[in-house]
Amino acid sequence: MTAPNLLDFDREGLAAYCESLGEKRFRATQLFQWLHQRGESDFAAMSDLAKSLRARLADAAVVTPLRVAAEQASADGTIKWLFDVGGGDAVETVFIPEDDRATLCISSQAGCAVGCRFCSTGHQGFSRNLTTGEIVAQLRHAEHQLRARAGSAERVISNVVMMGMGEPLQNYAALLPALRTMLDDHGYGLSRRRLTVSTSGVVPMIDRLRDDCPVALAVSLHAPDDALRDELVPINRKYPIAELIAACRRYLETAPRDFVTFEYCMLAGVNDSLAQAHALVELVAERPATRIACKFNLIPFNPFPASGLHCSPRERVLEFAEVLRSAGLVTTVRKTRGDDIAAACGQLAGEVQDRTRVATRMARRPMIAIHAQASAPLGGAR
Ligand code: SAH
Ligand code: SF4
Repeated sequence: MTAPNLLDFDREGLAAYCESLGEKRFRATQLFQWLHQRGESDFAAMSDLAKSLRARLADAAVVTPLRVAAEQASADGTIKWLFDVGGGDAVETVFIPEDDRATLCISSQAGCAVGCRFCSTGHQGFSRNLTTGEIVAQLRHAEHQLRARAGSAERVISNVVMMGMGEPLQNYAALLPALRTMLDDHGYGLSRRRLTVSTSGVVPMIDRLRDDCPVALAVSLHAPDDALRDELVPINRKYPIAELIAACRRYLETAPRDFVTFEYCMLAGVNDSLAQAHALVELVAERPATRIACKFNLIPFNPFPASGLHCSPRERVLEFAEVLRSAGLVTTVRKTRGDDIAAACGQLAGEVQDRTRVATRMARRPMIAIHAQASAPLGGAR
């Protein structure tokens, strides 16, 4: 049997593991604090644990940090790490400092099987799910590196967004203990409102998250109607917009925030007409069946060569935002950060061994489908 990686456990899991070694459950809290609050990997250094326990752990368990393959810093303070997760796969994590917060953007999978048209991870296909330990170790590495560099024991990262590579709700079993570890006061102590899961819309798993561990929810909408969303976010064919919004409404019953954030990537000539902005208003604010408390986050598309897509002109992004705002919808336009190091939204590509041939299938899909869909509602509104 391979030795368990202790970073794979949330505190409850660690307590069960300690019990299996014949130890008291409360020992797990001390051990958990060493692992996460203090970033310690060497059992010998965990001075308030009994020597016998330290020896037993050294024999039976491991603490596996991520291997850093590269680190890049942007002129704007953004830092991107490339972590080698073995087997030819590497994932990326991005640190984004701002005046009032510091956000870490974490990956959940090596690649992604959803295959969104405008996403460079989606174009790479899918290799594998990350383990809980690999998800948590991204935060552990960044937090403790940044503290050491600041020469302080103060917490650095205030917010975490699951918006790196991968669809977190297609890796639910590993995600859940990772979220719990991030929220745990003996771990990283994040507040539920400052931990965001972003999803392309895996409806049954939105319900699971609602029941198991509600945190802030961001949903990648990107289109006001099913015909276009089917093309841009293929999972829409399985879970169409009305079902997705119904799941979001159920989610809000237990969520720490009283709104869902809809992300909307602005693609020139595809989803950015003012008619489409009005259609969005109708969808989320007017139609009783799909009305929902929400905010919009418009993301200027970050281009990458294989996409064949372009970002909407700045002016169009602002006009589009204005249509939403005039209807009373809180709308922000995401600032692009770290684009000089390809760390902006949708540019995270890491290194992925495509085992699903998503990338090949996607390359065969004609782009024309998108443009044909998009040209219909544009009409005189553009
Ligand atoms: N799989 C999840 C989380 C990762 S993607 C999801 O899709 O929500 C995080 C965000 O980046 C999503 O809103 C996604 O739509 C957006 N995104 C992907 N590619 C992008 C690109 N090229 N430019 C701008 N945003 C992009
Ligand atoms: Fe996957 Fe999200 Fe990229 Fe879509 S946008 S391919 S769901 S990572």
